Amino acid sequence: MSNMRHMPRVLIVEDEAPIAELISINLKHNGLSPIWAEDGESAQREIDAVLPDVILLDWMLPGQHGVVWARKWRSDPRTKSIPILMLTAKSEEQDKVSGLDAGADDYITKPFSTQELLARIRSVLRRRAPEQAEDSVTMGGLHLDGATHRVTFNGEALKLGPTEFKLLNFFMHHAERVHSRAQLLDKVWGDHVFIEERTVDVHVKRLREALGAAGAMVETVRGAGYRFTNKATG
Ligand code: CA
Repeated sequence: MSNMRHMPRVLIVEDEAPIAELISINLKHNGLSPIWAEDGESAQREIDAVLPDVILLDWMLPGQHGVVWARKWRSDPRTKSIPILMLTAKSEEQDKVSGLDAGADDYITKPFSTQELLARIRSVLRRRAPEQAEDSVTMGGLHLDGATHRVTFNGEALKLGPTEFKLLNFFMHHAERVHSRAQLLDKVWGDHVFIEERTVDVHVKRLREALGAAGAMVETVRGAGYRFTNKATG
């Protein structure tokens, strides 16, 4: 585990080479690492090799449409948390709705400006990146599997809601440090403009309940926030 940020990998699924190339150049110039796939099958091979941080998915692709791939990746546990940004030449409302229904996080209508595309990519990265840790972590009998989203305590499976899972994932990857409520909102919730700090308390409470005997590992640090510690279980 580390706080070092890698260059976010952006998988561009786009059959039109000039568009893909233009996007690639712009992403590279802005500190992102683009990978190009010309159809869904090639994209799947890239995904099987290395998980991208964001997928830019064209609507009209040879073979199966983008929306079919969006639905597939969203239903696969390995890829379900990767943000998908649909690229579409269509501006009909129904298509946008279909894309979002299939699990896309956002859509952008062609032609778009580089600035707009970058802003959308940064926005989905901000929303999703904090809880992206996919590696497993074990502390004091508590085991979290980042890939399968399973949590066990002394071998027994625990049932956590999605937000509690994200919270625990962040805590376990940043243990023994005090995090303020604002920091947790930023790191776990991402876009927290409309969320009150009290929300953190509600989910911490739920997390402790879900953890049962391991709940004591989540410590309240008065006037400061929360800390996840291995010491509590002795
Ligand atoms: Ca296309």
